Amino acid sequence: MVMPTVLTDRFAPLDYPDFANNHVFLKKATKHGFYDHHDHHDRHDHHGQYGQHGVPAPGPSAKELIGDAFRDRVENIDHEYCDPGEEDTFFVADLGEVYRQHLRWKLNLPRVKPFYAVKCNGDPKLLEMLAALGTGFDCASKTEIETILRMGVDPSRIIYAQPCKTNSYVRYVANQGVRQMTFDNPDELRKIARLFPDAELYLRILTDDSSSLCRLSLKFGASLDSTDGLLALARELGLNVVGVSFHVGSGASDPQAFLKAVQDAHWVFQQAATHGYSLKTLDVGGGFCSDRTFEEMAGVLRNALDEYFPAHSGINLIAEPGRYYASAAFTLACNIIARRTIENVPGRGANNTSYMLYVNDGLYGNFSSIMFDHQHPVAKILRAGGRTLYDMPAANATAGNNGTEYSIWGPTCDGIDRITESIRFHTELDVGDWLYFEDMGAYTKCSATTFNGFSNEHEVVYVCSEPGARALLGWH
Ligand SMILES: *Cc1c(COP(=O)(O)O)cnc(C)c1O
Repeated sequence: MVMPTVLTDRFAPLDYPDFANNHVFLKKATKHGFYDHHDHHDRHDHHGQYGQHGVPAPGPSAKELIGDAFRDRVENIDHEYCDPGEEDTFFVADLGEVYRQHLRWKLNLPRVKPFYAVKCNGDPKLLEMLAALGTGFDCASKTEIETILRMGVDPSRIIYAQPCKTNSYVRYVANQGVRQMTFDNPDELRKIARLFPDAELYLRILTDDSSSLCRLSLKFGASLDSTDGLLALARELGLNVVGVSFHVGSGASDPQAFLKAVQDAHWVFQQAATHGYSLKTLDVGGGFCSDRTFEEMAGVLRNALDEYFPAHSGINLIAEPGRYYASAAFTLACNIIARRTIENVPGRGANNTSYMLYVNDGLYGNFSSIMFDHQHPVAKILRAGGRTLYDMPAANATAGNNGTEYSIWGPTCDGIDRITESIRFHTELDVGDWLYFEDMGAYTKCSATTFNGFSNEHEVVYVCSEPGARALLGWH
């Protein structure tokens, strides 16, 4: 799926190397004072979480950059006159957020090398940012592997972390020199022995994923009473087992799941030694959230690793974070395309008119995360009644019974396509107004469909709030 992208001349350099491949068109500077922001750097002293060192921040804050990108776009679209598609839903992606998440990872898990899980969000610029930061990549299909190899990433930086692989893909990776892959059952071992006997194999073990949003252990993972047999079979087939992997479930919330999984992995390392395998690498998988819970989760994992796989053991440590890197970097804007007024429902007292809002993205689109990822995206007002409200108090829902009640629906003809059952705003919303949703980078557009003929190819406007990240990308 090719995502059309837009780079405006104010956020990206003119000589960006990938220009021709990304449907880039340049926009003229507009009247919204962007250059003004740049001309008065020292006015902006709230430069994200890593800019507070007592020195003037070197540029506009992340929120200011994202707000400028939104303003530039939505203030130039008039739904009364625009062409079909101009009012389409779109993302603003801040690659600086990806960079900050990487520093945060380094700070909290300095010994663990991340292999980004591509399935979470395959956005080309996000992948490019991660490649420039030096991460590896966790891929599960030929297309994902091909995408990463085409970026010039060395095959050794890819792990084919799908325990149940397609035969032809195994032949493909054998050809391409992608050697690292996972397995969790005897059939798969025999497949690998036939198709790629030199592969470097990780034994994926079962974990307790009961605290996670998306459980994976129903489908994957070898139970601890099967690992002995698997290692014996691998030995018999002459295969090269190099490590153990696990995944505590996507969107995990119980740090103890990591401790238990590390203990189990340690046990399997010792078991492997009895079969003559001297395992070199532990892969702690994904499951990390990007919210405040990360520090606690990482702390428990770091301590467990220091106890069971201390630095002097010489064991390599890798991980497969997806959501952690992608989630907060993407903010989505949707246009209100229709409204239905619900007047004075009986038994609800006077003056209780509420509205159903229909927006141009929904559960079959980028809000697929509501179905597949158990998310609850929260609407904020981007623009209403001719005013852009991004990041202002008036953008937020009201508490309690204040304001007017709205429900928010997607554009398809299916009744399941509802984003929000009930939310209240002081501002009156109508057709042509815009809403925005934060934290829309993980498991959103990757699982969008074209059901009912609505596009799943939405523009991404890229900004970069970190000078270090801009330098890595070659932006000026
Ligand atoms: C989905 C997946 C990941 C990424 O999980 P997150 O919860 O997004 O970090 C990592 N490894 C494997 C094998 C996966 O299937």
